[in-house]
Amino acid sequence: MKGIVCEAVESFKYRDDLPEPELGAGEAIVQIRRVGICGTDLHAFKGNQPFFSYPRVLGHELSGTVVQAADGTGLQAGDQVAVIPYLHCGECIACRSGKTNCCTSMKVLGVHVDGGMRERIAVPATHLIRTAGLSLDESAMLEPLAIGAHAVRRSRVTKGETVLVIGAGPIGLGVMAFAKYAGARVIAMDVNEERLAFCRSWAAVDGTVNALEGAVEQLEQLTSGDYPTIVFDATGNAKSMEAAFRYVAHGGTLVYVGLVKNDLSFSDTEFHKREMTLMGSRNATKADFDHVLEVLKSGSIDIGRYVTHRSSFEQMAGQFDTWLNPASKVIKAVVEL
Ligand SMILES: [Zn+2]
Ligand SMILES: [Zn+2]
Repeated sequence: MKGIVCEAVESFKYRDDLPEPELGAGEAIVQIRRVGICGTDLHAFKGNQPFFSYPRVLGHELSGTVVQAADGTGLQAGDQVAVIPYLHCGECIACRSGKTNCCTSMKVLGVHVDGGMRERIAVPATHLIRTAGLSLDESAMLEPLAIGAHAVRRSRVTKGETVLVIGAGPIGLGVMAFAKYAGARVIAMDVNEERLAFCRSWAAVDGTVNALEGAVEQLEQLTSGDYPTIVFDATGNAKSMEAAFRYVAHGGTLVYVGLVKNDLSFSDTEFHKREMTLMGSRNATKADFDHVLEVLKSGSIDIGRYVTHRSSFEQMAGQFDTWLNPASKVIKAVVEL
């Protein structure tokens, strides 16, 4: 069958001799129809993704149709599904306490093991979600949106609370959408005015702050001196993550959704005087995917405008460089099979 293999840094190879997946117990074989492209794929292609080895079939934002399902899975041929790409062990301390999203031996499809940039893939039925009623695009966007939904759930945001989301990329936008859905008053921060305008129109945020123009003063004004009680950083930028300590209300919480390879440093004074809670947020659980499914079904998230770029499977490799270029104004690119 056909597939695209990332053979080495900056090298995609089209193959038509990939082995067909074998149906294991408890699994289903999925015909892949949509593959969302995200920062992880771009970093893997560019060679700056930690824990990444080549060759690898990328693709972890996946939707498609079941072609064959093992007995007892409750799935049948023709079911439209989204894939939960986080293959957890089920036995470690994190898995035993239901935190499968931070399993000690996590294997993510398209990162640690081969993903979905190919015609068919075998996936444990526990990692498939039926998405009848959603479009294939919406189904593939369950994964990136679930990361935002998880961060929001983890923060325990309450109705009427003022939250700040730093970073208006695809993950930050998801955090904004789910924080709004939870009833929060949401302020978006970014360095790009066009992205901030998109936050206002797409996520209906209540205020925006340009991080380059006196961020602390702007936040003070927007919150009558209180500052946001929850701050999410979805930039993957160390400078932003460090600066975020100064945006949090006293008694508030800072959630790192984005991550960096480097060490971070912070002022203990800024941390302690606030009695701040600092949280990491990683991946998402099945409960988060189910929540996103419900919200998408309610029609409150516009995937039509979230997906800004698309290509066919055949043209993907040629388009990939464009998606790396910020001038292309890409939010989310989707490959169609
Ligand atoms: Zn992704
Ligand atoms: Zn585990």
